[in-house]
Amino acid sequence: MDSTIMDSPLTVTAMMRYGTTIFGDREVVTCAGDAPSRRRTYAALGERTARLAGALRSLGVDADQRVGTFMWNNAEHLEAYVAIPSMGAVLHTLNIRLSADQVGYIATHAEDYAVIVDASLLPLFAKVLPHAQTVKHVIVSGAGPADESVLDSLAGPGRSVHSYEDLLAAAPGTFDWPELDERSAAAMCYTSGTTGLPKGVVYSHRSTYLHSLGACLGNAFGITERDRIMPVVPQFHANAWGLAYAALLAGAGLVMPDRFMVPAAIVKLMETEKVTIGAGVPTIWQGVLAHLRTAGGDLSSLRTLVCGGSALPEVVQRAYADEFGIVMTHAWGMTETSPLGSIAHEPAGVTGEAVWPYRVSQGRLFCTVEGRLTSDSGEVLPSDGKAVGELEVRGPWVTGSYYLDDAPEKFHDGWLRTGDVGTLDEAGFIRLTDRAKDVIKSGGEWISSMELENVLMAHPSVAEAAVIGVPDEQWGERPLAAVVPVAGAVVTPEELRSFLGEQVPRWQLPERWSFIDEVPKTSVGKFKKTTLREQYAAGELQVTRLEPPPR
Ligand code: AMP
Repeated sequence: MDSTIMDSPLTVTAMMRYGTTIFGDREVVTCAGDAPSRRRTYAALGERTARLAGALRSLGVDADQRVGTFMWNNAEHLEAYVAIPSMGAVLHTLNIRLSADQVGYIATHAEDYAVIVDASLLPLFAKVLPHAQTVKHVIVSGAGPADESVLDSLAGPGRSVHSYEDLLAAAPGTFDWPELDERSAAAMCYTSGTTGLPKGVVYSHRSTYLHSLGACLGNAFGITERDRIMPVVPQFHANAWGLAYAALLAGAGLVMPDRFMVPAAIVKLMETEKVTIGAGVPTIWQGVLAHLRTAGGDLSSLRTLVCGGSALPEVVQRAYADEFGIVMTHAWGMTETSPLGSIAHEPAGVTGEAVWPYRVSQGRLFCTVEGRLTSDSGEVLPSDGKAVGELEVRGPWVTGSYYLDDAPEKFHDGWLRTGDVGTLDEAGFIRLTDRAKDVIKSGGEWISSMELENVLMAHPSVAEAAVIGVPDEQWGERPLAAVVPVAGAVVTPEELRSFLGEQVPRWQLPERWSFIDEVPKTSVGKFKKTTLREQYAAGELQVTRLEPPPR
């Protein structure tokens, strides 16, 4: 029997129509530093979106051509988010923190035809262009650089430079939006992997729509029109975790930090714009916490701080709860999973101290996302909270392949291999212990680097700690702890090891300790352990070696 329900396509266009009309008076606010923030209603955004689509069409953007963005989080980036997929083209958010040749590789692989660039990023983008030969149009948003020669250097044979605002001013205020197949490509994002070449994930209109609905559910972030969301997570990092589209669908306001990403600016913006939900990686909220402790701040409007991208240390979560009354929402995901995969709310009825093992976990598999664990040999392990294996996931917003890249090692019988290792319990809670490539195998047993880091970062003199496996004559591999002390704090390896020893079995305690100024980070703020391992191998880390603890 066929269903009697209408087959309305789930598209970005539909979200755009809904959000910019039904919630036309909502605003996207963009921080402008010391100048007053720029404010734009969703109704105005809707009209400008039509103008942008018309302008892009006049430059020859047609069918599923890729239009890149090289931008901060701001209103114009939101316009690109909406206009490009809605006109049937493909939004390609470029990571502004990668090296010029990497961005060039990615833009060329995706065959970006035009790129919208924030004026403040032009000097960086000028270095990308020689590596990005498919780009025919550079569209500059915002006031251009004082140095005119930068603008001149962007144009070249077969390539022209335009002002974003001039293009919009010349374009009509309406656009004949096409009927789109919900399964067609809406946007693409390349993985920010620490090894190998970045791989392209292509989101469909349907996956984007479903993911946006999902983000609004109470089991996720419970987004409604009463919210004002501040994605500190960049719009190039898995589409700002889907929050921009979710805001349109829910009628929530958006507060964009633009390039003002230091803790003081973030706190000020949250205060003045009465932000209810902030979202960012752990290092962002750790920085904000340190600022709040010294300078204070009024975060009474906040409902939650969403945190993912890497494991959120328990000590940070507890500090926000105890000192500021803010319950953080820890979530796990990947560019490949749109990104929401699991969200760490304690189950109903769990209260008091018992909430913490749930809140610090990677969370419960989120609706529509299925998960399972597999062993090294690929056999499926029980989801009993004990067996440790690689997490595999599948679902309607999980990628089933990469753009023009077979990568068979990343898929297994229709499941995505996440490369994350940990446990999964009957209730769907994931507890990760490591990335597969970071696992430390010592004397045949696994040591969880994430667990050691989590405990170490609870020490009052430790600002950050990363644990890596290093070769060892006796045990094959042993953990090395690289520690960034809190400014001005004096702490010894012996003291840290005995602190660790209160919670971790003795045989797991590191002998090798290194005090460093900063943990190397990836372009999206994750610990870059490959760099630490390279530094160790090259003898660049100053290492103190303690006697092994008695076993
Ligand atoms: P990306 O695609 O850059 O967002 O990276 C995805 C990877 O980040 C995952 O496969 C995990 O290794 C890591 N990750 C994301 N969220 C978390 C989390 N909450 N805890 C631990 N690791 C995480």
